[in-house]
Amino acid sequence: MSDASRSRGSHAPGGIAAARRALVEWIDAAGEAGRSFLQVRLLRTGDGQYEIRHARDVHRSILSLETVTSDPYAARAVAQMTNRGEHRPLKTAPDLRQGWALVDLDARALWTALDYLYPACALHWHAGREGTVRVTHWREVAARQSGIYGAVKLLPPDVVRNTVRACCGDAVCLRRVAWEVDGDTPLQLPPEGDPVGEAPVPCPEACSMFVSFARQVLVLERAPRHELAGLGRLGAEEIEQVRQIATAAAAGTLGSAREGEFSEPTNRRRMRYLALRLADEKARTGELPAPELPCEGCPRAVPCRGCPMV
Ligand code: SF4
Repeated sequence: MSDASRSRGSHAPGGIAAARRALVEWIDAAGEAGRSFLQVRLLRTGDGQYEIRHARDVHRSILSLETVTSDPYAARAVAQMTNRGEHRPLKTAPDLRQGWALVDLDARALWTALDYLYPACALHWHAGREGTVRVTHWREVAARQSGIYGAVKLLPPDVVRNTVRACCGDAVCLRRVAWEVDGDTPLQLPPEGDPVGEAPVPCPEACSMFVSFARQVLVLERAPRHELAGLGRLGAEEIEQVRQIATAAAAGTLGSAREGEFSEPTNRRRMRYLALRLADEKARTGELPAPELPCEGCPRAVPCRGCPMV
C-alpha cells in the first residue's frame, strides 16, 4: 500500500514556511562555500541575501555571465532550455543550462527561484531529511492511468525495475526514486553511488515522463522475439534499434534525439533500456564459449589445458 492519502500532499507537516527556514539555515551553516543543490550552488551573500547560479559557474566572474538578475521569476526561463536551446520537459534532468546568476534574493525569493528551477524539490528534500516523504507506489499510479496509458499496469515487476533503471538513473534524472512496485514488492534497485550535489531529492511518485516511457516499454515487451546467436531473444523493433544506433553513431548524430521522444530508437532512455535488456539476455544465455583459436602469440612451451593447437 502507498502512504494513506490523508497524509500525502504537502510532504511537510510544518508547511512551506518550515521547509524554507530549514533550507535557509542549511545554506547559512555552509558559510562561504555555499551548498550545492542538484546542479546549482546556493550561497549566502549578505544578511538575509542569497545567490543562485549553476554549480559549474561558481568560479566565473559575475560580469562574464549572460544573465544576472534579482528577479526570482527569471529562473523559469533558465529552467526551460538546455545550453543547446532544447526544451527541457523534465526539470530534474542533469542538463540545466549555465551562464546566469540570480542575485540579491531574500529567503522568499530564494525559495521561489529554486522552485522554478526544480519544482517541489526543496520541499521533498526537506521531507526526506525529516522522514515525512509520502510515497505513491507504481501499482497505484499505473491503476489511475487511462486511454493509451491504461495498459502500463500490465508491466511485471522485473520490467518495472528495468524501466526505472533506464528512466530514472542519475544520468537522466537527479531525483532518487523513493517508491516501490507496490507495498509488498520492492524495486530492489542496485546502488547508484552518491547523489549529485549535497541534497538528495526523493521522487515520491512516478512522473508523467516515466508513465510515457513505460508505455513505450510495454510495446517493446509485447512484441514477439527471435533468438539471435550471441544476443539472445530480441524483438524486431529492438533489432532495428541496434541498427539505428550503429548508423547514428557512425554518422555522429547519436544523442540528438529529444528527451521525451520515445518512438525515436536513439532516445537516451530507449538506449538505456536496450542495454539492460541485452545484459539480461546475456545473463540468461550465459557466456558463449571462446572460439577455437590459439591465443595470439602464445609464448607457453607447455600449452594450457584444452588448447586447440595441441
Ligand atoms: S519518476 Fe523517475 S524520471 Fe520521473 S521524476 Fe521520478 S526519478 Fe525522475
